[in-house]
Amino acid sequence: MAPEKCIFLRNDDVRESLDKELIKLTELSIKYKFPISHAVEPANVSGEVVEWLLDVKRNNPTLIEIIQHGYDHNNRNPHIKMEFGGTRTFTDQYNTITKGKELMDSYFGDLWSPVFTFPYGTYNEATLKAIEGAGYKAISGKITFSAKNKLKNLVGRSLGRNFIFNKKVSYHCSKRQMFSFYEFSVSANLIRKYLDNKNAIHYTTNEVFQQIEEAASHTDKIGVLFHHRFHSDHFSQIDEILATMKDKYTSSTIMSFIR
Ligand SMILES: [Zn+2]
Repeated sequence: MAPEKCIFLRNDDVRESLDKELIKLTELSIKYKFPISHAVEPANVSGEVVEWLLDVKRNNPTLIEIIQHGYDHNNRNPHIKMEFGGTRTFTDQYNTITKGKELMDSYFGDLWSPVFTFPYGTYNEATLKAIEGAGYKAISGKITFSAKNKLKNLVGRSLGRNFIFNKKVSYHCSKRQMFSFYEFSVSANLIRKYLDNKNAIHYTTNEVFQQIEEAASHTDKIGVLFHHRFHSDHFSQIDEILATMKDKYTSSTIMSFIR
């Protein structure tokens, strides 16, 4: 029998404001009993959002997963789309990452999962060493399955590399040599193009389904990425996507993959 195809939902940029979009997206995931991983920016999240997250997590323990999204989303350099990677050293990144982890511990205790996601998707070798040093169980980035990317990931994995020709090698669904954390990356996104901090062009529902089907032909674990603050006019679309996916696939939190 073919292995089950499983969907996980990741929602990035949970920060200071308790947006109605964050609440609505969470309500829809609960309505369809679809687990969702909310990726929290530890330096930016407010007490109000922490309390709300704790409340929904306590009421829906298997459906709400709280994970970490960087440290402060590089709010110090608003025009540079990079928080980790670049020329940042191990020590510098380790300090920021562990500061974020301590904040997550102080907000959520044992109600959050040690999964790390990268603001803007950027990292370097030293970031991965810092993730390992800080004791995370998994990272979540992005993976696509074009012929070119599949070849890059195949060659990179067989050589045990994290980068090949400066391109990230994905270890989706597995561990890297020398490291003990897993990678579970997203392969579908609702947003085609980000216009500014609040507005984005979305894919059509059919295009989202196509991304999911395409990913499902290459992997058993299909991640779908959300950014709640951009989705205010797209909740009927999200409702339809979740309803359809629920019939077709199983669903899981990220940590359930490795337990
Ligand atoms: Zn982000």
